[in-house]
Amino acid sequence: MKVLKFGGTSVSTVETVKNISAILKKTDENQIIVCSALSKVTNMLEEAADKASKRDMSYKDICTQIKQRHHDFIDQLFSSDEQGDLKQTIDTHIANLEKVLDAISMLNELSQRAYYIIVSFGEKMSNAIIYQYLTIHNGSVGYLDSSEVIVTKFENGKEDVNRSQTYKNIAAAYNPEYKITVAPGFISKNEKGYATTLGRGGSDFTAALYAAALKADLLEIWTDVSGIYTADPRKIKNARPLEKMSYREVLELSNLGAKVIYAPTVKPVLDANIPMVILNTFYPDEKGTLVTTGTDTKTPVKSFSTMDNIAMLSFTGTGLVGTSGIAGRLFNALKDVNVIIISQACSEMAINIVINEKDADKAVEAINKEFDFEIKGKKCILPIKAEVGYSILAMVGEGMKNAAGVTGKAFTALGENNINIHLIAQGSSEINVSIVIKSSDAQKALEVLHNKFFNE
Ligand code: ASP
Ligand code: MG
Repeated sequence: MKVLKFGGTSVSTVETVKNISAILKKTDENQIIVCSALSKVTNMLEEAADKASKRDMSYKDICTQIKQRHHDFIDQLFSSDEQGDLKQTIDTHIANLEKVLDAISMLNELSQRAYYIIVSFGEKMSNAIIYQYLTIHNGSVGYLDSSEVIVTKFENGKEDVNRSQTYKNIAAAYNPEYKITVAPGFISKNEKGYATTLGRGGSDFTAALYAAALKADLLEIWTDVSGIYTADPRKIKNARPLEKMSYREVLELSNLGAKVIYAPTVKPVLDANIPMVILNTFYPDEKGTLVTTGTDTKTPVKSFSTMDNIAMLSFTGTGLVGTSGIAGRLFNALKDVNVIIISQACSEMAINIVINEKDADKAVEAINKEFDFEIKGKKCILPIKAEVGYSILAMVGEGMKNAAGVTGKAFTALGENNINIHLIAQGSSEINVSIVIKSSDAQKALEVLHNKFFNE
């Protein structure tokens, strides 16, 4: 059996919905199909919740737009005979959505619990439409309610999936007599039974959980690009899709914020060793990118990626040299901050910490508080300051392992183009080399390296 995930843009036009139906007809094996909300609907729901919490009544207009969008889509997809009570189903969801928004507006506040309820409506509506379409065009179709079977637990400040419970629930609820089963993406419940979600972009993750729970032979992620590229094709015109990648390479890239796949997706399929392929719903005959444990190491670097809005903190002072426990205290002070890179040269004169710009104030305050005595009293540590306006340029590829000269080639190319490198970090796994540069150099640096490695 296989699991197929279709993203928002793949369930938003008549053409792509027809493509979905045709794709499902290509095989006789059992298939589970996981769909996102219609594109932009989750954003609109977030906006409505935000407006309601500020008592800005225009949230009502957003509800009307969302309702109209679904009604129009239904009219495009179905004749009036085929529609059944689908529009009423949508109207019931919209009425419930409005009730929750009214309550948010009355309370003048948006709780986490109310937020989850609000954003869940997108997937509930889109999957109801897809279910109806496939029932008409692809034979009898089953439905798995992800908001019942996927269970999250609150851990480390966020909702994480309780995988063992979720796998048990899926295995118990799945009925293999249906050749096709629709299961909405993104939505889940927590251990107390309240609505939760798997995070923005989480439908990929939903699909991976179904695949792992049912030991699927394949996970297909259908999106609006033709796989994972050598660089973001919006930034690099001649970037091209990669045929093969390893889970680890994809994990590195998705952690860097590459939009093509939601990072938590990789773990369940990696653990269960299920191949994953990323395909384009608009061009269903293209090969896409196949992700397995193996990779092809013909090119040492597979892909370049940049991450913007980065801040650098330099923690310096004579007090650092040869003193034990400093790094421990520093990291502890940063326990609530997402640290992206840490680096210290062996002179021990400075520890550099790379974080998102939005976390800079919090990090500076926490570190200065922890080292207040050394900063003010003994003056052996300098007050920390955050420098903003940086980007990270990462090169990712398993082929860099044991290959000499790869980083040399990259640094030479950057140097020749007057691009100053502020910090370099490479983990011992040698699969990701991260270079911190000024954001004003980021686009040029990406072009220079992509050209050097893929066009020369
Ligand atoms: N609809 C959700 C979002 O836009 C989940 C997804 O698309 O994967 O974040
Ligand atoms: Mg999406």
